Amino acid sequence: MHDSHDRELGMHRKITRRDFINGVAATAGASMMPWHLFAEDAGKSQNAANYYPPSLTGMRGSHPGSFDAAHSLRDGTFWDSAGKPEDTGEIYDLIIVGGGISGLAAAHFYRKAMGNSARILILDNHDDFGGHAKRNEFRVNSAFRLGFGGTFSIESPAPYGAVAKGVIEELGIDVPSYSKYVNKDLYRSFGLRPRIFFDKETFGVDKLVINPNPRGGNESGDAASASAALLKQFLAEAPIADQAKRDLQRLYDEPKDYFPGLTSDEKKAKLARISYANFLKDIAGVHEDIVKMYQSLPHGLFGVGIDAVAAQDAWGFDLPGFAGMKLDPAPGKGMNRDAIPNEEAEEYFFHFPDGNATIARLLVRKLIPDAIPGNAMSDVILAKANYARLDRSGSSVRIRLNSTAVRVKHLGDANSAKEVEVSYARAGKVYTARAKNSVLACWHVVIPYICEELPDQQKDALASAQKVPLLYTNVAVRNWMSFQKVGASSIYAPGMYHSGVNLDLPVSIGGYECARKPEEPIVVHMMKAACHPGLPARQQHSAGRMELYTTTFETMERKIRDQLARTLGPGGFDPARDIAAITVNRWPHGYAYEYNSLFDSFWLEGGVTPCETARKTYGRIAIANADAGAYAYTDEAINQAYRAVAEITKA
Ligand SMILES: Cc1cc2nc3c(=O)[nH]c(=O)nc-3n(C[C@H](O)[C@H](O)[C@H](O)COP(=O)(O)OP(=O)(O)OC[C@H]3O[C@@H](n4cnc5c(N)ncnc54)[C@H](O)[C@@H]3O)c2cc1C
Repeated sequence: MHDSHDRELGMHRKITRRDFINGVAATAGASMMPWHLFAEDAGKSQNAANYYPPSLTGMRGSHPGSFDAAHSLRDGTFWDSAGKPEDTGEIYDLIIVGGGISGLAAAHFYRKAMGNSARILILDNHDDFGGHAKRNEFRVNSAFRLGFGGTFSIESPAPYGAVAKGVIEELGIDVPSYSKYVNKDLYRSFGLRPRIFFDKETFGVDKLVINPNPRGGNESGDAASASAALLKQFLAEAPIADQAKRDLQRLYDEPKDYFPGLTSDEKKAKLARISYANFLKDIAGVHEDIVKMYQSLPHGLFGVGIDAVAAQDAWGFDLPGFAGMKLDPAPGKGMNRDAIPNEEAEEYFFHFPDGNATIARLLVRKLIPDAIPGNAMSDVILAKANYARLDRSGSSVRIRLNSTAVRVKHLGDANSAKEVEVSYARAGKVYTARAKNSVLACWHVVIPYICEELPDQQKDALASAQKVPLLYTNVAVRNWMSFQKVGASSIYAPGMYHSGVNLDLPVSIGGYECARKPEEPIVVHMMKAACHPGLPARQQHSAGRMELYTTTFETMERKIRDQLARTLGPGGFDPARDIAAITVNRWPHGYAYEYNSLFDSFWLEGGVTPCETARKTYGRIAIANADAGAYAYTDEAINQAYRAVAEITKA
């Protein structure tokens, strides 16, 4: 039975999805592999002629081999099998741990402060640079398709400040020109709309219906009448209880003040301490089908469902239930910054076909010009990075991949030392290099293990930056005719493994052409938040992280095929025939943790936040990364790099 269903799904089909190491690591349980056993593959030289990570498929993101040394360090077993570190004899001005946008921006700022001859080494544990800003490439027949493996776009809930905007402009990115490249009416011109998929396990039947309320407000953010018409259509189609339909209509049409007699501030203070799920159930008194329907809506932003998102934040997102509460529009205390609407910020948006991997690539081009040919924002899109040029002895900036920093320490007392020594694991061996300074632009939870000399209070603050676990899955399909037949451009699926399915944003730029006709291959983007509803947010994240590390690629692939078959089958989709390649970008350490009024009392009460304690410069070691601002956005990764570099160069 299982086998025949697998055949229908196409589990036997030869697609590009599993390379050798993925298969072995996944079946053995990736987190259990001793770090030095990855030696051969992880050490595959980035100088080799065929080394080109963007075109790899299968399990990407935090791919097998990238995290084993760090986990062994965490488990206290690393040094047992490490042997004596080998001194490379290399001496730099700066060693940066982490080759994401923050680490690359730190190198850029350091050169601006100290001159282009400053010698800089950037270490990253992945086989590619960019951190979360990762490029996925596909070839389907003769079509070349790009996908974003993580960071999707230039966007932020609050406007980019002078520092981050300055970098964007220095890189030649003309954000206001975005409308020239995106075909924003393409899907609508084929009759495609956002839809919701109700699944039989959660709602009793598989059914795809119109989404009346994509992310809160109506689809285009205007015409209330359009919204009312969509709601009517939705209520006629949705497989939810009649009572749930009446309750949803009531939420929209009969605004009620659920806290009469309180001031706006008092109401917001109450809403900041109650989840939206509990608000809907206990205060608005709606049928449980409504709660189930909204449960996964915040996954894309917070990585948790409405059980762990404050009602005050739901009000900020324009979710229903608050229209009669007479709340002052000013942001309430403890609101998540994502939930505070800001028009200027909304306008500052740019999506490259590979997401913000383009920013990472433009930064690399600035640091090592001949590694990525060209000199403009548009010509970088199709430019092929030459990985062999990233780590050359004559170069002032070197980017060393597949290299996990395992110890960063001052040579002597932190107050008087002249140098920092960095040890890193690469291809089953440990090496050391020295520098005047180090910037740790890596994930904060890693830092207490690699930098033991930090004060305990700072280590605790660093450890509290629990990352949000996510899957960003790209499925290259041979055409999108089934999407056209079912009339869907994006699908919110509250009960499914991936809660979001989206056709790629149609952007053509720099000679790259997106799919314009339903007969053409396209990348379908799917998003999963690995959360565990009912637990406090940080516990949901750590349980989700474990889940992602221990789920095999095969299991994920089966879920992907099954979900697409059930959702798009009525439109003729055949997973065995239509799927050309699958890349799962696994991010057990995904978004930076953002403070949440339900679980972080300091965020409501004010005072020093953990990220301020965590990011303090210690001697010659400064700390960057988006974690340093507890804000999961590219501008913050850049801002924190700027601050960290300023702190070590001002002396
Ligand atoms: C799936 C996803 C989607 C996102 N979408 C957006 C978006 O659309 N817009 C937006 O603005 N932001 C988005 N973000 C947030 C994103 O994290 C930031 O925008 C930014 O890319 C973070 O950069 P960073 O350098 O601070 O961290 P990272 O990109 O995480 O880079 C840190 C690097 O340090 C490495 N590292 C960790 N430990 C070590 C070690 N011991 N040795 C060597 N290297 C180490 C990590 O592996 C990683 O490569 C998204 C994040 C995720 C996960």
